[in-house]
Amino acid sequence: MKVTFPYMGNTCIVVKALFESLNIDFVTPPMCSKRTLELGTKYAPELACLPLKVNIGNFIESIEKGADTILMTGGCGPCRFGYYAEVQREILKDLGYNVDFFVLELPNGNFQEFLRRVRKLIGKKSLWKAVMAVKKATNVSIELDKLDKLSFQIRPREKVKGKTDWIMKKFQSQVFKVKGAEEIYNIINSTREELKAVEIDDTRYIPKIGIVGEIYTVIEPFTNFKIEQLLGNMGVEVDRSLNISHWIVEHMIKQILPLKKHRPYEQAAQPYLNTMIGGHAQETIGNSVLYAQQGYDGVIQLYPFTCMPEIVAESILPTISNDLDIPILTLIIDELTGEAGYKTRIEAFVDMLLRRKERVVTNNEYILSRY
Ligand code: SF4
Repeated sequence: MKVTFPYMGNTCIVVKALFESLNIDFVTPPMCSKRTLELGTKYAPELACLPLKVNIGNFIESIEKGADTILMTGGCGPCRFGYYAEVQREILKDLGYNVDFFVLELPNGNFQEFLRRVRKLIGKKSLWKAVMAVKKATNVSIELDKLDKLSFQIRPREKVKGKTDWIMKKFQSQVFKVKGAEEIYNIINSTREELKAVEIDDTRYIPKIGIVGEIYTVIEPFTNFKIEQLLGNMGVEVDRSLNISHWIVEHMIKQILPLKKHRPYEQAAQPYLNTMIGGHAQETIGNSVLYAQQGYDGVIQLYPFTCMPEIVAESILPTISNDLDIPILTLIIDELTGEAGYKTRIEAFVDMLLRRKERVVTNNEYILSRY
């Protein structure tokens, strides 16, 4: 059995840590590329969500590298994620690929079934060993998210342009060459030290933008055209509302174990969307409210064309923007999205935020000067 999985940003490093701890033979899918998307677009239904298409491309590229088993997470609720795995299974079958699918669905009351699937994946290894491996992989995800966050803070402030990009690129090339959670930690630690040593200019005003939206487009840099890097290099500090460690802890581990949930966005979303409607719509709404309350300069919503929950969220965001006086830009991404147009919209948005800030500062100075 040679297992593969979808490529979704740093998730690959987390799954790598997990499989290496459990000695599971696996194939890491090649980083998402134009070819990945072309393969997915060719074989997936035209109106399928973009992540489904990219994942089809990931699977074909991994099968070409020898994978024979695919690990997917499943979902429930009123969006299409719940039948992703089934559709992908059928598409690959029609293409003549003979692969097994493991769908790890979050246990909705049926814990036995969840355990049966885990057992099938880990074989004869003890469940305790699997729990320890999950713990290590979760810690890796937490450290990875912290490292990303640090890079989001350093990049807009660096004195030598491109230094943060260079360090993070080096990190990405090194991390896939090492084996096991311990070695991954070592690379994370040395990269953190390199980032902390970057010379920064703290005299400039750094606007802050929160990124919200559908999880795949928020997390996978290929689909969002490296938006954090793009904004950072424009001198903007970014915060990503969704990250892999939050998803693992809040939506997987706490779904299984009776631990107290930490989901402040649910409370914040109450006046606008008081129920879960699938995908991450409630997070989009709640986190936009939280960003406004925390004094962020703007919010960018990202989602794939035809994503149902985010379409609903988009229709609510103008009300939040008006109520809380925060500019919100929505970017919808599909396989036809051109990088130049996308970048221009982001540049215009950042420009507007800076002019808005100038106006607010000037008005305040004017008001103060009258007293
Ligand atoms: S959240 Fe959106 S993109 Fe993801 S499966 Fe649901 S509809 Fe598709």
